[in-house]
Amino acid sequence: MRKNLLLAATAAFLMLFSATSLAQPPQGPPQGRPQGAPQQQGVRTPPSRLGGTQQPNGQEAPRMTAEMTEFYDPVPPTVTPGSFDAKNQNWGAPSDAIILFDGTNLDEWESVRGGEAQWTVANGVLTVNKRAGDIRTKREFGDFQMHFEWCVPEGIQGSGQSRGNSGLKIGGYEIQVLDGYDNPTYVNGMVGSVYKQTIPLVNPSRPNGEWQYYDLIFTAPTFNKLGQYKTKPRITLIYNGVVVLNDVEIIGTTSYIGIPPVDQNSTYKLLLQAHGDPSEPISFRNIWIREL
Ligand code: MG
Repeated sequence: MRKNLLLAATAAFLMLFSATSLAQPPQGPPQGRPQGAPQQQGVRTPPSRLGGTQQPNGQEAPRMTAEMTEFYDPVPPTVTPGSFDAKNQNWGAPSDAIILFDGTNLDEWESVRGGEAQWTVANGVLTVNKRAGDIRTKREFGDFQMHFEWCVPEGIQGSGQSRGNSGLKIGGYEIQVLDGYDNPTYVNGMVGSVYKQTIPLVNPSRPNGEWQYYDLIFTAPTFNKLGQYKTKPRITLIYNGVVVLNDVEIIGTTSYIGIPPVDQNSTYKLLLQAHGDPSEPISFRNIWIREL
């Protein structure tokens, strides 16, 4: 009997203890109340600055209005977008762009071998001269938006990397330009790739003989005191209106052989590649850039 009483008393104590424990508030300060601030009985603490008007001391806090989060300064500069050129089926440069090629001359370009750029300008179009080698801009650029159009000749011969190969090199970083229409090659070297690094998301190539376009957004890297990347370069590429590289990190210069080394520059001449394969040269037009 005494033993039963003892068991019943123990059970009752345990039930009472567990009920009391469950009734305890959760650990840590309640949300919306600063740690250490006194909690007043019966005062509801607002969940956020926007969510309530009553302060822990019971006084009214200033009420947020829509106007408090509407700013009028600084005003972004006005830019007039390019107008549509119906004849060439393309859009002109915006008013704040630097025109790198408008169809008439190569004043903004030079040969990487020294001297003037020796590529062919005719009928508003710039065509690669493979014997003359690569050309590059005279100016250097850091963060930028760039647009250019290019066309692989209709009926071009060759295959893989030897068919319509060119490229935009931002210093040592090559964004591949290549015939991508029914022309298999290693996918991290296909059109729209960061050469030997990043495969494009999709392949929106048009057939030979049709004009295509690239719109790029490039963010230059930053470096630490040892000359290593603090932040790597980044690229977004829109090809024929389709995103193929979405804010992709570039891990180093795009070498043909080997691991990508660090390029310690943060501004670059922009280079158009004269690839050494025997296929017919491709053409460019409507090249412009905006510094960001
Ligand atoms: Mg190339």
